[in-house]
Amino acid sequence: MDYPDHQRGKASSGIKKNGLMPVLENIDLEVEDGEFVCIVGPSGCGKSTLLNIVGGFLKATRGEVLIDGAAVVGPDPRRIFIFQENGTFPWLTVEDNIGFGLLDKTPEDRERIVSHYLKMVGLSGTERSYPRELSGGMKQRVEIARALAGSPDILYMDEPFGALDFLTRLRMRAELVELWQREKKTVLFVTHDVDEAVQLADRIVVMSTRPASIRSVIEVKLPRPRDLDAAEYLSIRDEIFEIMGFGPTEASAPQDATDNGDAAAASTRSDSPPLLRPKKLDADVIIIGGGPAASVLGTYLANAGVDHLIVDKSHHPRAHVGESLSYSTTEILREIGFLPVMERQRFPVKGGVSWTSWLNPQQINMEFDKLEKGGYAYQVDRAQFDELLLRHAREKGSRVFSGARVERVNFTRTGQASGVTLKVGEAKFTLKSSLVIDASGRRGLLGKQLNLFKQAPELPQFAIHSWFTGVNRGDEPTANFTHIHLLPIKRGWCWQIPINDEITSVGIVSGREHHVRSGEDVEQFFKWTMGLNPVLGERMSNAQRLREFRMDGNYCYSMERFAGDGWLMIGDAAFFVDPIFSSGVSDALHSAKFAAEAIISARANNDLSAASFEEFERKMRLGVTVWQDFVKLFYQMAPIFSQVINTSEHSARMMRVCEGEVYDEEARQTVEQLGGVFDAIQADPNHALNRILKDFDAGVTT
Ligand SMILES: Cc1cc2nc3c(=O)[nH]c(=O)nc-3n(C[C@H](O)[C@H](O)[C@H](O)COP(=O)(O)OP(=O)(O)OC[C@H]3O[C@@H](n4cnc5c(N)ncnc54)[C@H](O)[C@@H]3O)c2cc1C
Repeated sequence: MDYPDHQRGKASSGIKKNGLMPVLENIDLEVEDGEFVCIVGPSGCGKSTLLNIVGGFLKATRGEVLIDGAAVVGPDPRRIFIFQENGTFPWLTVEDNIGFGLLDKTPEDRERIVSHYLKMVGLSGTERSYPRELSGGMKQRVEIARALAGSPDILYMDEPFGALDFLTRLRMRAELVELWQREKKTVLFVTHDVDEAVQLADRIVVMSTRPASIRSVIEVKLPRPRDLDAAEYLSIRDEIFEIMGFGPTEASAPQDATDNGDAAAASTRSDSPPLLRPKKLDADVIIIGGGPAASVLGTYLANAGVDHLIVDKSHHPRAHVGESLSYSTTEILREIGFLPVMERQRFPVKGGVSWTSWLNPQQINMEFDKLEKGGYAYQVDRAQFDELLLRHAREKGSRVFSGARVERVNFTRTGQASGVTLKVGEAKFTLKSSLVIDASGRRGLLGKQLNLFKQAPELPQFAIHSWFTGVNRGDEPTANFTHIHLLPIKRGWCWQIPINDEITSVGIVSGREHHVRSGEDVEQFFKWTMGLNPVLGERMSNAQRLREFRMDGNYCYSMERFAGDGWLMIGDAAFFVDPIFSSGVSDALHSAKFAAEAIISARANNDLSAASFEEFERKMRLGVTVWQDFVKLFYQMAPIFSQVINTSEHSARMMRVCEGEVYDEEARQTVEQLGGVFDAIQADPNHALNRILKDFDAGVTT
């Protein structure tokens, strides 16, 4: 369909054929009865021309328009136009404007119809007013009511809300949707506003520049009224922008934020509209969270030259539970070049784990020396450790955006992760990426969004913890070990973790049955528990609490999947099993390392689909299964656990599992072997450890 441009009095600058400038080319579009179709495209591309031709106001030089099989030869009262410019008749009252096309009706019918549509557009009471007495939005509603009153088959709307102010426009769109849902008229709606199109249409026709052709037709299946913040909404909107060749909008504020790591200031400075896409923050990989998992992944990616952005809602330093690092973290910290920082900070070096039981006060040690001469791990103040780790990532090349909370991960309509929507103060941003990694910790942002979160019902554990001075840590050389004291309550134990020379972290873990209930005195509960194990009671006899008690509960869970099209989960965002083996940071670091390997290889193969992450998924699943089996076994054999491990011919292998080496088949076999040993002890009433088990079980309050 071509249109002779000179008839519209415009200078022609495109390709001319015989003095004619083609405005539209190869337009082939079918519209269903009752469908709402929006036409968008760059301004001046010919959208309105198309509508005028379809409406019979202009004649195409080639091609035809058919409605119900009949060619359109001119305007038709069954098909009504609503323009941007106010089309009301100024000399007629509101009711006469609406009833203008109803002169063939009886006065009664006319009045009934006018009053029906007046009410529908919310203008009852303005019957006798003249258009000049109405606001722009009201005048536009009069025009819509007039159009609908004529009971047209089709409504052609050419930028009908273009002249209205922002709020009125939003209101009018909502009203139009409501009206359309009730009346189900066929609507062809031209707009240059992509948001408007996504909010209104069943299908969106995206036009190219002149000579305009149809670039794409996008179906919008979202329910109405549409949530303008919904991920699907945003992804359709972004897709249209991209088809139209528009890049994301620029926003300087968050860029400043990455430079100085402080987005809060940026948000208060920004007076931008509420939804922006700050192009400079888009990244190949977006990592949600700024804990150990995110920082270590960031460091690996930076070392491999992969562009990425870490987004953390917190500003570091921030307090965090999880202060004892297991042996297997040390190798990864070495690999990312972080050990010199650990040494400079003089974090206490941990040479093993000691165990005591309320039945047997004798301390049993599991020493890392058994694994490797000079093997060690660390005890850390997590606020300091996490801040340093994030700083390390930044120094290696990670871009970091702090103080920005990711609200959700966005997906394309084909289900590929395409970025995130985040909030800084009151401002919202969408950022694009080809991969999104959830490292948001126990919040499990993506797992919850995708409904993959699965609580471990057999381990409903709770913990109460704080920092103390004056805690006796026992004698050297085990003073800086992690000390575990078993308690005579179901799945009950206490940790003592040295934070520095003065401060010790102490926490009680127990099954939900023994968790302090609301209204109970936490201090009293804590004191009572300290007395349940004589060694623990003695070690805490001079302890002074330094800060408020903190509580954590129901923390044993796993996501049903750890990777999908364009996304992965690492650290606590993927799973957490139990704190008994101080394994959380180790799992965070291992999963970060596996994710880095998976990402680098997927990018090299140019395939970011779930299929590329199968090996990651497999390794992670193996790790969780080994942990879950191991922890369950531990709680069954707690009073004899350390003795069995220390005396087993597979002692070193079992200790390696305790210390986080759970991601291979050997680990799975080791857990099976341990289970076999435990079964044999249980089955043999004459076994020395069988008695301990029985005594322990008899003394435990369930
Ligand atoms: C009682 C208890 C005791 C524990 N003891 C130990 C121990 O001794 N040793 C050990 O290794 N582990 C321990 N853990 C586990 C340990 O705390 C975690 O496994 C570890 O912190 C996981 O690291 P991460 O990086 O995955 O998550 P986190 O360290 O939790 O970091 C997540 C980050 O994501 C950010 N974030 C969250 N939501 C958003 C969002 N929407 N947008 C942007 N950012 C977001 C947060 O601000 C945070 O900085 C313990 C856990 C519990 C419950």
